[in-house]
Formats: sequence, C-alpha cells, structure tokens
Amino acid sequence: MLRNCTECGKVFSHPSQRLCSPCFKARTEDFTKVKEYLQEYPNAALSAVSEETDVSIETIYEYIRQGRLTMIPKGAELTCEVCGKPVSRGRVCSVCSGGLQARPQPAPETERKSGARVHTLDSLRKRY
Ligand SMILES: [Zn+2]
Ligand SMILES: [Zn+2]
Repeated sequence: MLRNCTECGKVFSHPSQRLCSPCFKARTEDFTKVKEYLQEYPNAALSAVSEETDVSIETIYEYIRQGRLTMIPKGAELTCEVCGKPVSRGRVCSVCSGGLQARPQPAPETERKSGARVHTLDSLRKRY
C-alpha cells in the first residue's frame, strides 16, 4: 500500500507504518537518545534534554504521553486536561478517564425481542 510519510511527505510502500524507513529510523534513534540521556542524567531539565539530544520538546512530550519514558525530565510533568492534577501518562488522570468510561451502554434488548416476535408471526403465517 502506497502512502505519504507523515514526517517528510515522501511516498513509500508499507502496510501499517506512517513513516518512511529513514524517518522511522531517525524517530527510533531520537527516542533512544532521549532515553539514554535520561538514564545518565535523571535530574536533567526538559529544555536541557531537548538541547542535548536535538529532539524537540513536543516530541519528548509525545514520548511521555505514550508512557514510553520510564524517567520524566524535570519540568515535563503532565497534568490532567480535566482536573489539572499531575498524571504520569496520557492526557487525563485515571479518576477522570474512569469517570468517562463508566457510562453503561443501554442494551437494545427490547428491539431484539419485538423483532423475534415479528419473525415468529411471519413463520406462523407461512405455515398456515
Ligand atoms: Zn519520511
Ligand atoms: Zn483528572
């Protein structure tokens, strides 16, 4: 399947990836650089990590949101978009995301029952 690389716009062929292989490789290298830098300097500030690794602050935030970084640079703490509490990953805290998911879906059982009744009537009519 042909697609455009989301990074450089080049057309390439891959069934699932959104980046061409040079960009994908660069992305992977970027992540490794950030991870290794943080292992070496666990107390490094976000701006320092970005400068030293040559990886943009937005990209580092993306890693944190995806939960890929075990160590979070100083000053890069994420906050819940709903209540503003600090979160370790994602955009909303577990309390707020739990509240969003807790809404039960009404089961369309009445519809199914009446549908079944119509069906039996039909088959009865056919029989007589
Ligand atoms: Zn590319
Ligand atoms: Zn929250």
